Amino acid sequence: MDTLDVMKIVVLAGGIGGARFLRGLRSAAPEAEITVIGNTGDDISLFGLRVCPDLDTVMYTLGGGVNEDQGWGRADETFTVKEELAAYGVGPSWFGLGDRDFATHIVRTQMLAAGYKLSAVTEALCDRWRPGVRLIPMTDDQVETHVVVEDEQGRRAIHFQEWWVRLRASVPALSIAAVGAEDAKPAPGVLAAIEAADVVLFPPSNPVVSIGTILAVPGIRDAVATRTVVGVSPIIGGAPVSGMADACLTAIGTETSARAVAELYGLGLLDGWLVDEADAAVRVEGIEVRSRPLLMTDEAATADIARAALDLAVELKRAEESR
Ligand code: GDP
Ligand code: CA
Repeated sequence: MDTLDVMKIVVLAGGIGGARFLRGLRSAAPEAEITVIGNTGDDISLFGLRVCPDLDTVMYTLGGGVNEDQGWGRADETFTVKEELAAYGVGPSWFGLGDRDFATHIVRTQMLAAGYKLSAVTEALCDRWRPGVRLIPMTDDQVETHVVVEDEQGRRAIHFQEWWVRLRASVPALSIAAVGAEDAKPAPGVLAAIEAADVVLFPPSNPVVSIGTILAVPGIRDAVATRTVVGVSPIIGGAPVSGMADACLTAIGTETSARAVAELYGLGLLDGWLVDEADAAVRVEGIEVRSRPLLMTDEAATADIARAALDLAVELKRAEESR
């Protein structure tokens, strides 16, 4: 990379962890051209509407419309439609959709029905939100993460959202599958953005159902592997900072630790790995591990984390180029 060029950064992002990291990255590298490849494995159809939780979390967070306390959904939200649906006895009631949020899903569903691809719809929604990054869904094809569970009703596969939101991952997942991923194609612009990227960053997103799902779309992993890649651990001191990522890691037979997640991504994909100070002793063969505070407490702290990830990536890229 020539220092005179605009730095091109690609980030593979899930929801809350990805979105918060991106806000820090945008302020750490205001001149950079940032392309976000968003997870769509969490997408679900509810009330006849297509809902894309991770794309919307990134869009609302970077666009200044997110509910900050919650980390997802709209600020200043009301729930009249949800109450009216409940009054008709129409569920599910466990998925929180507010009135403002409903409008997003109505616009998306209307455009999809008119024949627009999800990538074009996302671009149109971003015309309003101006997230300051280019947000592309990983694929325009339908990929849905399903979870196999076993309870009183026997062994069955349920939608990821039913496991995550309704059951709060309280029933162990026997397996997790990104249904449709093998036949999915990366959305237009995804591979080109990765190929043109100076660096690829993995934010502290869920390694199984966010980043893992994006990497499961044929072509994406191979393209990423050709780049300099630095990741930020979502696991600190043996536990996720928030959410139930440990239940996802357990389902795929991976320990919940910063080291195990780096090993899961693996040599050949990850070049550098940022872990929290609590995990300063972590070493991973073939991967450059650095420790620093990794709690995204506010935008300044998050920008520092993003800058550290970027600095490490540039350092590793230069070392690679001079070899
Ligand atoms: P989701 O789609 O909303 O579940 O969000 P993501 O996939 O983007 O990321 C969720 C992950 O972010 C969880 O595994 C958390 O452990 C991680 N996370 C949340 N806040 C922080 C933080 O402040 N620091 C770090 N390092 N990870 C965080
Ligand atoms: Ca998600």
